[in-house]
Amino acid sequence: MTTLNTYPLPPNFTWHELSPHAAPRDLQPEVRLALQLLAQRLQVVRDVVGSPLHITSGYRSVAYNQQVSGHPNSYHCKGMAADIVITGVPAHRVQHLLRNWQGGLGCYSTFTHVDTGPKRRWRG
Ligand SMILES: [Zn+2]
Repeated sequence: MTTLNTYPLPPNFTWHELSPHAAPRDLQPEVRLALQLLAQRLQVVRDVVGSPLHITSGYRSVAYNQQVSGHPNSYHCKGMAADIVITGVPAHRVQHLLRNWQGGLGCYSTFTHVDTGPKRRWRG
């Protein structure tokens, strides 16, 4: 029987927060692997920061991405992106902490987008 434990994640992340609308067994294997890699990289950040990273948006199905007016080729649809907040830490401070992130870093006033795509920086 397939259980969630079949797909291990680093200690401070759950499938529910990475993929609130789809269980891991319902995800394409490449999406699942991408989410695991993303969570492993976020765990490193979490260990350095010492505070929980709250994922406000992780994996999005194409349909859900359209609902929330996401970019059509969003890394969220590949399981490669998360929008994060840290309680009590302003977004600009989170973005400063992540300045060396090897991937996409989108800086918004209330949250930070990180992805495991090519290194890019932008402000939203
Ligand atoms: Zn995002």
